[in-house]
Amino acid sequence: MRDSFLNHDWITDEHRAYGDSIRRFLSDEFQPNRAAWTAAGVVDRGFWIKAGAMGILGASAPEEWGGQGLSRSFDLVTFLEQARIADTGWGISVHNIVLHYIVALATPDQKARWLPRLCSGEWVGAIAMTEPGTGSDLQAVRTTARADGNEYVLNGSKTFITNGQNAGFVIVVAKTDPAAGARGISLIALETEGAEGFQRGRNLEKLGMKRQDTSELFFDEVRVPRANLIGDEEGKGFGQLMIQLPWERLMLSYMALGAARCAYEDTLRHTRARRAFGQRIMDFQNTRFKLAEVKTEIELLAAFLDRLMAELEAGTLTAERAAMAKWWSTEMQGRTVDTCLQLHGGYGYMSEYRISELYADARVQRIYGGTNEIMREIVARSIDRDEI
Ligand SMILES: Cc1cc2nc3c(=O)[nH]c(=O)nc-3n(C[C@H](O)[C@H](O)[C@H](O)COP(=O)(O)OP(=O)(O)OC[C@H]3O[C@@H](n4cnc5c(N)ncnc54)[C@H](O)[C@@H]3O)c2cc1C
Repeated sequence: MRDSFLNHDWITDEHRAYGDSIRRFLSDEFQPNRAAWTAAGVVDRGFWIKAGAMGILGASAPEEWGGQGLSRSFDLVTFLEQARIADTGWGISVHNIVLHYIVALATPDQKARWLPRLCSGEWVGAIAMTEPGTGSDLQAVRTTARADGNEYVLNGSKTFITNGQNAGFVIVVAKTDPAAGARGISLIALETEGAEGFQRGRNLEKLGMKRQDTSELFFDEVRVPRANLIGDEEGKGFGQLMIQLPWERLMLSYMALGAARCAYEDTLRHTRARRAFGQRIMDFQNTRFKLAEVKTEIELLAAFLDRLMAELEAGTLTAERAAMAKWWSTEMQGRTVDTCLQLHGGYGYMSEYRISELYADARVQRIYGGTNEIMREIVARSIDRDEI
């Protein structure tokens, strides 16, 4: 039987076998704890360690630093399996982004120090860009990293940081030269254990993604070795962030696709089983047309994303094409979960039906990873370069 979740151009037998092992892992280790972690607002640290031991966290990291040396398509399999069970609480996508910042930008010494611990799950990764005063306008960050001898001294605060409660390793976006605008931004790695002056704030309550810890972080004269400047040159942070964003946005787009598939399949099950006016809900033309639209959009999105995945692997994925995928896929996800919830009737609004969780979780996809307005801005900038 065709597997609708792992139905992609790049899927091989190896990916399918990998998907089987992820599915078993999530079924054995995640699902039994799902309700407890939802209530706690955070996924247990022990689960991260188990995922690390399974090789899931470092699947696409080089073998010499504790990874499995696989392509990033294997990480996509993990995200698609996560979508199959309608989970968004385990912040593995952010952990993966952090890991790839290190793979792409860190010095060999930094890789040796940090990657094995990120791959094993000893550390959960977070990236701290957003501040109470600025989100979309990244150049306006006010957190500073003041050089002092062999150390940087961090001061400032961040908010909405995914994995903020669990993180043992945080990439902090800070100004090493506050007067230099975007050219004054650097990425500083903070190893949180025992870091004096570092404080985690509240685990913020949210509309959806209830299991995911999203936090404030505070830095008050936090001392970090100069050797924790990612890369070996100050002021490169803005460009470093831009290089990695296409992967982050492609990942979010595949997650949108996975969530749409999950909503579609739940709705097929529900509308086939439930009856009104002497027939199945599925037999009303409205239901059939709505689901025909959803099915079409899922196919169209999958085709576009697979093309972008090939471009990512070839090193040619551009910022504007990743931005196109991010805004369109997440808006399609929003339309889909709304349509599918409607077809569930009142049951769709009940927490015990998965579609209600899919609905609540979908909303933020249009906001983080760069808002969809900023995505349109990036695409719009490319219009002027179009030859006619
Ligand atoms: C659940 C969750 C998890 C998150 N995880 C992280 C994380 O791990 N790390 C991290 O650093 N951040 C994280 N964020 C923060 C997220 O990236 C920001 O919320 C987002 O970038 C928007 O910033 P803002 O909230 O300050 O909104 P603002 O920038 O204040 O934007 C408000 C509105 O104005 C619009 N706007 C802004 N500028 C323009 C423009 N130039 N043109 C048109 N419209 C514009 C926006 O699109 C938006 O609609 C997370 C957020 C959430 C909700």
